[in-house]
Amino acid sequence: MTPETLFNIAAFAYGLCIGSFLNVCIHRLPAAMSIVRPRSRCPVCGQSIRWYDNIPVLSWLWLRRKCRDCATPIPWRYPLVELLSGVFAVITIARFGPGPASLVYFCFIAALLVITFIDLDHQIIPNAITLPGIPLCFLGALVVPAMTWQDALMGLAVGGGGLYLVGWAYYLLKGKEGMGGGDIKLLAMIGALTGLRGVVFTLFVASATGTVAGLVQMAAARLVDMERRIPFGPFLAFGAVIYLFYGRELILWYLRLLS
Ligand SMILES: [Zn+2]
Repeated sequence: MTPETLFNIAAFAYGLCIGSFLNVCIHRLPAAMSIVRPRSRCPVCGQSIRWYDNIPVLSWLWLRRKCRDCATPIPWRYPLVELLSGVFAVITIARFGPGPASLVYFCFIAALLVITFIDLDHQIIPNAITLPGIPLCFLGALVVPAMTWQDALMGLAVGGGGLYLVGWAYYLLKGKEGMGGGDIKLLAMIGALTGLRGVVFTLFVASATGTVAGLVQMAAARLVDMERRIPFGPFLAFGAVIYLFYGRELILWYLRLLS
């Protein structure tokens, strides 16, 4: 085995363990529970989860997707979040190299994963992540080579302010709220780490993919409740991650297409 393979395996294992913690955040933050205490429990029978039943992905498989004590099915979301976190740990280091930039980006992606799954479940984006996230992303921008503090400040202001204006205009026109305050704080946080270009790109990708998802939902209208709002947070998170990894290439490709 080459040192590089070993390093990637270590990064993957690290990502899986962080993913396990992200599951705790996804489960507890919306309920305003502490994310450090008590130990993880089965939400149905309340039994503490034994350390050997708490191993990312593997435990889910050898418990055959059920709680050991009460046999309540364990949602597939748990191993999915762990796997996503593991994969992102590996590809973040592959893209940005070992060092502080990868650490900043991986923390950012981890926060976006938590936001995505909480928004899907509860249609909220917790302030507990975005409010500290905005200054932390700004500090992170000082560490990553792709950013300057001026760009970070601009991204933060346009991300927060721009979406706020859109929401305000929508409210004036339609008399109801279109975009949640959580989305605004999330885009400010994304802007603080990706700058002005990141904000524009993220909003573009999020609107495009969100519209497609909305059309698909409308086409399937007989199956779902039309009034159910599609959360926008996951699309913003998706746009921001695409920007991190392919933003430069996609923007160049798009400009060539126009010329
Ligand atoms: Zn149980």
